[in-house]
Amino acid sequence: MAKRPAKKSGTKSAKSAKSTKGTRGTKATRGTKATKHVYFFGKGKAEGDRSMRDVLGGKGAGLAEMTNAGLPVPPGFTISTGVCTIYYQNKGKLTPAVEQEMIANLRKLEQATGDTLGSAEKPLLVSVRSGAKFSMPGMMDTILNLGLNDVAVEGLKKRTQNGRFAYDSYRRFIQMFGSVVLEIPKAEFEHEFEAVKKAKGVKQDPDLDETALREVVERYKKVVKKKTNKDFPQDPLDQLRGSRDAVFRSWQNPRAKEYRRIYSIPDHIGTAVNVQAMVFGNTGDRSGTGVGFTRNPATGAKEFYGEFLINAQGEDVVAGIRTPKPIAELKQVMPTAYKQLRDITTRLEKHYKDVQDFEFTIQDENLYMLQTRNGKRTGYAAVVIATDLVGEKLVTPKDAVLMVEPEALSQLLAPIFDPKEWKALPVATKGLPASPGAASGQVVFTADHAVEWTRQGKKVMLVRKETVPDDIHGMFVAQGILTATGGMTSHAAVVGRQMGKPSVVGAGALEIDERAKTVRVGGATLKEGDWLSFDGLTGEVKVGQVASKPSEILQVVAGEMTPDQSDIYRRFNQLLSWADKYRRLGIRANADQPDQAQIAYNFGARGIGLCRTEHMFFGEGRIPIVQKMILADNEKDRRAALAELLPLQRGDFYGVFKEMHGSPVTIRTIDPPLHEFLPKREDLMVEIAKIEASDKKGKDLDEKKKLLHRVEQLHEFNPMLGHRGVRLGITYPEITEMQARAIMEAACQIAKEGGAVVPEIMIPLVGDVRELADQKAVVTRVADAVMKEQGIKVKYLVGTMIEVPRGAITADEIAREAEFFSFGTNDLTQLTYGFSRDDIGKFLGAYQDRRILEKDPFASLDTTGVGKLVEEGTRKGRATKPNLKVGVCGEHGGDPSSITFFDKVGLDYVSCSPYRVPVARLAAAQAALKSTALD
Ligand code: PEP
Ligand code: MG
Repeated sequence: MAKRPAKKSGTKSAKSAKSTKGTRGTKATRGTKATKHVYFFGKGKAEGDRSMRDVLGGKGAGLAEMTNAGLPVPPGFTISTGVCTIYYQNKGKLTPAVEQEMIANLRKLEQATGDTLGSAEKPLLVSVRSGAKFSMPGMMDTILNLGLNDVAVEGLKKRTQNGRFAYDSYRRFIQMFGSVVLEIPKAEFEHEFEAVKKAKGVKQDPDLDETALREVVERYKKVVKKKTNKDFPQDPLDQLRGSRDAVFRSWQNPRAKEYRRIYSIPDHIGTAVNVQAMVFGNTGDRSGTGVGFTRNPATGAKEFYGEFLINAQGEDVVAGIRTPKPIAELKQVMPTAYKQLRDITTRLEKHYKDVQDFEFTIQDENLYMLQTRNGKRTGYAAVVIATDLVGEKLVTPKDAVLMVEPEALSQLLAPIFDPKEWKALPVATKGLPASPGAASGQVVFTADHAVEWTRQGKKVMLVRKETVPDDIHGMFVAQGILTATGGMTSHAAVVGRQMGKPSVVGAGALEIDERAKTVRVGGATLKEGDWLSFDGLTGEVKVGQVASKPSEILQVVAGEMTPDQSDIYRRFNQLLSWADKYRRLGIRANADQPDQAQIAYNFGARGIGLCRTEHMFFGEGRIPIVQKMILADNEKDRRAALAELLPLQRGDFYGVFKEMHGSPVTIRTIDPPLHEFLPKREDLMVEIAKIEASDKKGKDLDEKKKLLHRVEQLHEFNPMLGHRGVRLGITYPEITEMQARAIMEAACQIAKEGGAVVPEIMIPLVGDVRELADQKAVVTRVADAVMKEQGIKVKYLVGTMIEVPRGAITADEIAREAEFFSFGTNDLTQLTYGFSRDDIGKFLGAYQDRRILEKDPFASLDTTGVGKLVEEGTRKGRATKPNLKVGVCGEHGGDPSSITFFDKVGLDYVSCSPYRVPVARLAAAQAALKSTALD
C-alpha cells in the first residue's frame, strides 16, 4: 500500500520535532520535513497503514489498514505515540504544533461525516481510545460519546428521534469523563444513579425514561461541580484535550506498568490515541455490538468464535453486567449484518494471514468495524492454527515457523488442569514458574517419604525449603516440586525442567517446618498428607486437589501412543520439521541417564551437550560407595572405592551413547564439592547425640563420628567458589582417571558392537589453561591405555566448560588445549554478576520491582555483560582454532531470547533440558530467519 508523503505541520519548530522520539525512524520522519503527529483515516483512505504500528499503535495501524481496504470503518484520526513522548517530556503539556494538527484533523473529520462538534442539529460524537504498539487489553482508558453537551444532546435527540437514548448517552459520557479525566470516584455517580432509580421505583437501567435520565444528568453535573469546583466542560474541544491527556496519563497507571513488566513491553514506546466518529450499538433492537475471533483461540478450531449484545455499547460487553450471546445467534437476529461480518473477517484473516480478533458495532443494521488485530491464543491453538494455515495455503511453512511463540510449545508438553476446577480455588501464594505443568499431590517434606508414599499408590507433592542432589529420588516420583527458596537455576528448577517435572521454586511466603512437618501457606497450615496444587506455568499455588490430564505429545514421545493416534502430535512434529530446515544452531540436550537421553532424542536433540556425571552418583545403591571414596584417607582406599564405581558409570555411559545413535555426547567430569555427597553436619550431630544417650554405643557411633570429622574437614565457607570442578580433578586425579576410563570403555564397547559413538570429555570450571592441560594429560593417558587394552580406536575430544570469567577472557590461551568449548552460563552469570544462583530469590523480586533488572539473569542471558564474555570468548577461542566447536549448556540454552543471542554470535549448538528441546528447535529457526530478514 503506497504511503503518503509526510505533511508539513504548520509552525512545527525544529526543537520540538527533535524531541518526538516516538516517531523516530519511520518513513514519515525521514528527510528534512517536520514530524507528523496526527494521521487521518476515512472515506476509503488513510494516511497510515499496517506497517506503522510504532507510530500509530496496533489499533491505529489496524484502523488505517481496514480503511484502505475499503471496509466500513467510522472515520477518525490517530494521534501518534510520539505525542505521548512529548506529553511526558513536557510534563503534561503539548506543543502548539500538535494542538493545531489535532484541530485541523478534527475539522477534516467534521467534513468527512458532515457533522459538527457541539451542533444542535447534527452533532459529531467521537470515541477516544488508547492503542500502544503491543496490545494491552483493558489496561488503559477509553472515553465514549465525547462531544455531548447541553446543546448537542438535543441535537442527538432530534436526529435519532430518541430522547431516552440521547440522555442515556449524555449521562454515560459525564460518568466516564468524570471518573477517567476528572478522577472522581465512580461510586459518586453510581450513588446518584441508584437514587434516581429508587425514586422512580425502577429496577433495571433500561427502564429509566428520558425524564429520569435528564435528572441523572443534572445530578451528575452537580457531582462534577462539587468535586472539582468547576462546571462540567461544555466546550467539546476542552473535552477532547482532557480525554486525550487522560489516555496518555493512563500509560503510566499501575496496572499498565505491571502489565508491561510481565510481558516485557518497553516503557518508553508510549501509546497512541485514536479519535473516531461514534457509531451506536445502543439505538434499539436493530443495533448491537460484539467481539470475536476468526478461529477458536483456545483450541485453534476453524470456527467463527465470539459474542455480541443487542442494544448495547462496547463497554457493556466487557463489563460483564449483561451476558453476551454466542455470535452464531447473530445469524438469526440480523442475517445481513452477520453475513457481512463473516465476509469481512474472512477477508481480514486472508489479508493479515493470521487469526483476527475483531470488534464491531451494528447501528440500525449497518455494520461497522472498530478494530482488528492478530488474536492471542493458547500454545495448543497456536500449533493447530499455524499448521492449518499452511494447509489452506494462506501462509508458507516459513511463515508458520515464525507465527508460533517457542514458549507456547512447552505448554503442549505439560499436564494440564481441568480449567473449571482450577479457577474455582483461590490463589494461596505465588513462586517462580520454574518448570511448566499442572501438579496436584499430597504434601510430603522428605524425598524418602515421597518414595514411600508413592509406593503406596499415593500422588505426592514434594515441598522443601530447597532441594539438594540426594532428593533426586523423591523429586523423580513426585507430581511436582515446590520450594520456598531458590531461583530459576536452583537445583529444584534445573532438575525439575530436566525431568519435565512441574516445579515452582522460591515461593517465599511458604513457612515450612520440616521437623513439625507442616507448611503455612495463604493463612492455612497444611500437614503431611494434605493436598496442594500448583501451575508450573504461572507459579500459582493453591490449597486442595485438582484433577489434571497428561499431555498427548509426551505420551507419543514416551511410546505410549502412536503418532497416528494424536492429531496434535502430528502437527507439533510437522511444525518442528519445518523449523529444522531454517535453523543454524544444532540442538543438544542436558541428560544424565539413558531414559532422559531417549526422550531428548525423540524430541529431536542430536547430541548431549552436558552429562553431569555426579548426578549418576545418586543412583540406587551408589551413595555408600561414593561416601567410601570420599572418606578414604589414602589413595589406595580411594582407588578401591572408585573401582567399584567404574562399572556402574560405564553402564550409564553405554546407555546414554546407545540412545544417541552416534550423535556426540559431552560428558563432564565431577563438578560439585565433595561434601554435597555426605550427610548434613547438623543431622549427624543429632544422630550422634541420640546414640550417645542410648546404650547402643559401638561401631556405629565410631563410624558416625568419623563421618562427622570428615564432614567438618570438607566444610567450606563458599562452596560455590571452593573445592569443586577442575580443582577436584587436580587434587584427586584418580577420580578423573576412573571417569575417563568408564567413558572410553563404554565407547569402545559400542564401537566393537559396530555402533557409532562420539565421546567428548569436558573439564568444568577452568579459568587457566594450565588447569586444563593438567586434566587433559590425565584423560589422554587413560584413553590411550583403554583403547590399547580394547584393541580398538575411537575418536574422542577433550574440551572445557567456559564458566569462569577468566576462562572467557583468556579463551585464546585455553583454546590451545581445548578441542571444544561449552559455555556454562549458569556459573558464568553467577561469577560475572557475583549473584549466588541459589540465593538470588531473596532479592530478585526487589530488583525487578525497582527495574534494576528486567528479567532473571539466570533464566534469560544478560547479553550486555555475560553475553559479552560469551561473544569475546568465542571470538578469541576461534582466533586460536578457527574450527573450534562452541556450544552452551547453561539453562539459557533453552531460553528463546538467549538462543537468539547465541545464534547471532555464531555458536554451533545450544544444549538444554530434554523437555526444552522443541522450544529450542523453534527458537533457533526463528533466530536464523529473523536475522536473515534483517540482513
Ligand atoms: C553451568 O554452570 O552453566 C553449567 C551448565 O553447569 P552447572 O549448572 O552444573 O554448574
Ligand atoms: Mg557450572
